[in-house]
Amino acid sequence: MNMENINIDRRKFIGSASLISIGLLLSQKSVVAQESPVNIIKKAAATAKIEITKLRGNLSVLEGSGGNILVSTGKDGKLMVDGGIGVSKPNMSAALAKLGNAPLKFLINTHWHFDHVDGNLWLHEKGAAIVAHENTLKNMSRTIRVDDWNFTFPPSPKGALPGKTFADKESMTFNGEDIQMRHYAPAHTNSDISVYFPKADVLHVADTWWNGHYPFIDYNTGGNIKGMIAATNHNIGHSSDKTIIIPGHGPIGNRNQLIAYRDMLVHIYDAVKKLKQQGMTVEEVIKAKPTSTFDAKWGTFIIDPTFFTRLVFKGA
Ligand SMILES: [Zn+2]
Repeated sequence: MNMENINIDRRKFIGSASLISIGLLLSQKSVVAQESPVNIIKKAAATAKIEITKLRGNLSVLEGSGGNILVSTGKDGKLMVDGGIGVSKPNMSAALAKLGNAPLKFLINTHWHFDHVDGNLWLHEKGAAIVAHENTLKNMSRTIRVDDWNFTFPPSPKGALPGKTFADKESMTFNGEDIQMRHYAPAHTNSDISVYFPKADVLHVADTWWNGHYPFIDYNTGGNIKGMIAATNHNIGHSSDKTIIIPGHGPIGNRNQLIAYRDMLVHIYDAVKKLKQQGMTVEEVIKAKPTSTFDAKWGTFIIDPTFFTRLVFKGA
């Protein structure tokens, strides 16, 4: 293991010590004998500090347990977009209490991944009706192997499953907002949705965007690089320079940052595709370093340049 290669940045996600472990784990060719990053992330979440950032209107972001969580608080109660990791319950409860005593009414899941839905069970018990894309329900209801996480997810308990699902789009009025949910064609998974609050002009784009980092793409449940690019183009087309855009991971962002991300994805996709079409194997493409001009900015988090090249190659 080479510590020098893993220059983990210190932005909050799940605690830097665990990030280093995950980075090391994923940078190795064989992860079979290692503990899954899923277990490492869950362990770290037990003590993770939850940071609160107030946005416009009655919206706040909670960061620290799994993916970025958006919370609406007001006369109708609380609504969360994603629920973090289950073991964060004590710190998450305290963070929610800091946002006022309005009761929790709804939880929207942006996709099926554990770092976004693992808190479903306790949040449902606390009173949240769970809304998600139909593929989130399907994926949570069955056993799924995610090879790149070296983890087999068992079916979720009944109380954790979304009670209301939709196929294409859905809307609901809550705390004075006409909240818009829309399914992406397969991108990061087959279950990703965006959640838009028009009055506050705040858009949560799920894990189609990792702000400042190469993203994970889950080919085991239908994700692919072309879908990631298409989803990002859609997000750019449905936002303005005033829109606050919440990525699945990384800091709260804006449209210019999203455009830089799209340009990075397109550049690397084109480069990898060209090399693949020349007949190169994935190992040869990795050696050709098609990501090199982007690595300093994007390649220092969980998904390192080698891992990202593999993910792009699969779909190029
Ligand atoms: Zn995800």
